[in-house]
Amino acid sequence: MIGEQKQRAQMLEGRSIAEAIKKEVAEEICELKGQWRAPKLAAVLVGDDPASAVYVRNKVRACDEVGVASEQMELPATTTTENLLDVVRRLNADDGVDGILVQLPLPRQINDAVIIEAIDPAKDVDAFHPTNVGLLAMGRPRFIPCTPAGIIELLDRNQIEIAGANACVVGRSQIVGRPVASLLLQRHATVTVCHSKTRDLPAITRQADILVAAIGRPAFIRGEFIKPGATVIDVGVNKITDPAMARELFGEETAERIKTIEKRGYTLVGDVHPAEGDQVAGQRTPVPGGVGLITVAMLMRNTLQAAKWRRGIE
Ligand code: NAP
Repeated sequence: MIGEQKQRAQMLEGRSIAEAIKKEVAEEICELKGQWRAPKLAAVLVGDDPASAVYVRNKVRACDEVGVASEQMELPATTTTENLLDVVRRLNADDGVDGILVQLPLPRQINDAVIIEAIDPAKDVDAFHPTNVGLLAMGRPRFIPCTPAGIIELLDRNQIEIAGANACVVGRSQIVGRPVASLLLQRHATVTVCHSKTRDLPAITRQADILVAAIGRPAFIRGEFIKPGATVIDVGVNKITDPAMARELFGEETAERIKTIEKRGYTLVGDVHPAEGDQVAGQRTPVPGGVGLITVAMLMRNTLQAAKWRRGIE
């Protein structure tokens, strides 16, 4: 069905948008200097999951870039819920800390719901606390979770009209699917949320002017899932290690991706089949280089916002 088409989707790159947001945050922090001390983010990493360590490192690096002070705490993999609760309570009580981030996933023995609910909602820069989730669901958000906020920012900064659009979100997680659906609804899109029990998924996704894929399954969204000319936001981050699979997925980028596999042992692919997506979509976000980059910039913005609210600055 897609073989005859020659179109190549325009890439919605995340890097320039992430840089622009970080620059805005840095400028605002700079302007407020003199009136206040820099905002401070406390990032808590539990255990030794290498991916989580990279995420926390990137977040701390972004803090350095924009002028947010940071404190990184590393706790052993054997940490209990009680141990971590003590840390969270201490950070809640510390007036010098504006934002608290507990990197997920947590080791299995820790009850993550208890931890998330213990974070002071006013310092909850990831926006996972039920108070912040509730405010977002009511259409009057305080903090917005970083990845969904980044998706809206990416649509806005590319002048993609949300109001009146048919938007379809595949995935209903607390971190991405549900909040991005809430935000799209708040911006007057007509929103459909799909999940693993949805019947005839391609028939539904094909109606979407804006299709958000947040599934966690490599290249799951094929060409026939996409309305020709649609905007496709690919949130998925999946590792593939097989060069034969890379040949099937990456079209013109194949040689480069195989080189990456040879060098690092893997390459990243989203939830959207990139070569087929390119032939049908009007525009799509690349993986890597799309939504993921903006997520960290939005964390910086949330941390600045937390600091302003806590000090009564609007
Ligand atoms: P998640 O919690 O595992 O949720 C996945 C969702 O996909 C679930 O709602 C699930 O449905 C749905 N799903 C699974 N198989 C499906 C199928 N066959 N058809 C339709 N829906 C299906 O994942 P997540 O945390 O939202 O993350 C999704 C992806 O985004 C992952 O690759 C993750 O690494 C990536 N991610 C990226 C960023 C970023 O900054 N770029 C941030 C967060 C996450 P059910 O609810 O029915 O099980």
